Amino acid sequence: MVAEVYLLQTNQSVGGKFTYGIKDEEASGIRPGVFVKVPFGSGNTLKDAVVWSVSENQTVKYKLKYIKGLNPHIDPISEKEMHLAEKMQKLYLCPMGDCIKCLIPPEGNKGRVVKFACINGSVKELEDIILTHKFRNISQIRFLEYLKDCGGKAQVSQIIKDIGCTASVANTLEKNGYINIVQEKTEQSHVKEEQIESYPAQKLTEIQQKAYNTLEKMLDAGFGRALLHGVTGSGKTEIYLQLIERVIEQGGNAIVLVPEISLTPQMSARFTGRFGDKVAILHSRLSNSERNRQWKRIRHGEIRVVLGARSAVFAPFEKINLIILDEEHELTYKSEEQQPRYHAGEIAALRCKMDSGLVILGSATPSVGSFYQAHTGKIEYISLSERVNNKPLPGVEIIDMRMELNAGGRGIFSGRLIDEIRRNLESGQQTVLFVHRRGFSGHVVCTGCGKSMKCGKCNIPMTYHSGMKRLICHYCGNTAHMPDACPGCGTKIFSQKAFGTQKVQEELSKLFPEAKIVRMDADTTLGKEGHAKVIDDFVKGGGDIIVGTQMIAKGHDFPNVTLVGVISADSLLNAQDYRAGERAFQLLTQVAGRAGRGNIPGRVIVQAFDIDSYVLEAACHQDYEAFYRPEINLRKQLNFPPFCTMAVVGISGTDDRAVFDYGVTYRQGLSLEAVRLFGDCSGIEVLGLTRASVPKINNKYRWRILIKAPDRRMLLKLFESFKEPKANHKITGVIKDINPGNVF
Ligand code: ADP
Ligand code: ZN
Repeated sequence: MVAEVYLLQTNQSVGGKFTYGIKDEEASGIRPGVFVKVPFGSGNTLKDAVVWSVSENQTVKYKLKYIKGLNPHIDPISEKEMHLAEKMQKLYLCPMGDCIKCLIPPEGNKGRVVKFACINGSVKELEDIILTHKFRNISQIRFLEYLKDCGGKAQVSQIIKDIGCTASVANTLEKNGYINIVQEKTEQSHVKEEQIESYPAQKLTEIQQKAYNTLEKMLDAGFGRALLHGVTGSGKTEIYLQLIERVIEQGGNAIVLVPEISLTPQMSARFTGRFGDKVAILHSRLSNSERNRQWKRIRHGEIRVVLGARSAVFAPFEKINLIILDEEHELTYKSEEQQPRYHAGEIAALRCKMDSGLVILGSATPSVGSFYQAHTGKIEYISLSERVNNKPLPGVEIIDMRMELNAGGRGIFSGRLIDEIRRNLESGQQTVLFVHRRGFSGHVVCTGCGKSMKCGKCNIPMTYHSGMKRLICHYCGNTAHMPDACPGCGTKIFSQKAFGTQKVQEELSKLFPEAKIVRMDADTTLGKEGHAKVIDDFVKGGGDIIVGTQMIAKGHDFPNVTLVGVISADSLLNAQDYRAGERAFQLLTQVAGRAGRGNIPGRVIVQAFDIDSYVLEAACHQDYEAFYRPEINLRKQLNFPPFCTMAVVGISGTDDRAVFDYGVTYRQGLSLEAVRLFGDCSGIEVLGLTRASVPKINNKYRWRILIKAPDRRMLLKLFESFKEPKANHKITGVIKDINPGNVF
């Protein structure tokens, strides 16, 4: 007997199937879906593999190697899961091993001993140490601060992962007597079991009931997809809970996905409060062995509902009846860091198709793609137009920053915003100020009319390169002369605005020296936990004003916040991405939702130069359709998704010139192949080779090629038949991403 297997460990060259012999004494255990060890390569090192098929002896030309036993640590995958992996491999153009790794929990059964870092004294003493001692590098301080935030003890590997340092930091700190590293056996969860408070079902309102009825019918009808569109507080979650209740009653299973599980404690509480131990919550914080245990419980039918982030879509239910993506528009549903670059919504649809299940996409601000599908009848559309408690949405006011400039105000804040902040300080209420991640340097805005210089083909803001004295489109590579005056209004002045949270905090403390100002962005907070803690402290009254990036717009409840300010909406609108308008609308709506959650009504102030933008106008009234209609027209006109499928090829390497040269060859080859396959007028566009949006990471230079194709099938066919040019050692990575979330 022989077996065809896939290796779990992959790189481009070993992605395929391999044939191994099966010894007679092992034949009974070897069947498709089981995990085995196989000798591989000239050294015959043992590697993990999964058996794909078993057949009678074939004559093979080479000397057959034999499977070296089963791997008892990984549960076999089912036929359906194998089928899913095959589909993923085709859809995401990646090695099978990477697809299979999505379907099994990370290994965690073998080494149960885990290293913890513990502080030597009290947390208070540690605080003094951090303030007074001299440390050689910042990682050591971050490490200690992380420990401080965790109350003095944390898993070493977790700290390293969250703050992005190496293991040597822990060792140095131990050697110098700041911490102890202890090895502990983690039998069970080290996640604290929180007390479960029951959360009984509520009687649905009339509008909720109508939505429920439609969805219930769909549940019974077999495979289907629905978009549930309702503002925050319209009672979507209650509908989910009641649908799941019905699924469970009928013996079925459900998966609920949320963008970021650590940000949704309320959601978790409601699920455990309703379904008790039938729910598994897959935190990103779970240790590997705990995740493994949950995975087994799901496989063995002890769990009926899974609540988790993106990867929970692979929860190993034998049959799935309902998958819900809450906040379906969020980018976190797209896997960006590693292969396969899948979208959870797509996996949900694949699984539900196989099992005749229902997929529900829930959102207050649906992605343009989903809304388009609903609009064109590809998926069911259900709208919840009112809030359950009829609480009004906060008022939004737009400040024209051009007037502020004309009035002589050169600062970051408008007079209006300053007044409102002062009012809030005086009455002891809290303020949230929202700054887009970072200003784009080289980004050119007319101070007369507020418009930015955009590429005529892509409508993407162009970047000014002072070296060449030219504007460049980072999508298609188009270049243009920097005009002397604004083509729109003739004004001569162009400003190149770029300021971040730090600058805003500095200016703010000059204006309000007495206020306690908290800053939160990727630079100040350590990992997800640290960031939840900053917010938590602020909510409990540990600050008057919080300045932050979009991180603070997500999911948190700020009961005492009555004023939300958006410092520069332009930086959102001008992000170099065709979805900038969509993201801006979503974020502004979300940000506005942060104001006035308590009993006092909230105010929202949005500062912008380009105040004529339909995006701002629509966000102000929280009017989705007013955003969608012009947006979809623009997409159609410029041939952007959903009217085409986009892909990105990301090339990175140690030598900038080598990456560029390789990119040129790659791009030419791909263009030629497209013509060979589909002819001259296929509609496939291989856009320019341009620097990636983050041009350098970890000393690797990054370039990208964007491709537009009329449909995905053509794109997949193109990549399938295209032979990539041979890369030398200076090229360290070539990734392909279909429907990229962030354009590399
Ligand atoms: P969404 O998920 O759309 O943001 P939720 O389901 O969280 O909305 O509902 C918002 C609030 O209204 C919650 O506090 C919830 O408990 C409450 N709520 C939802 N449905 C009902 C109902 N039928 N009767 C009373 N309260 C409800
Ligand atoms: Zn362009």
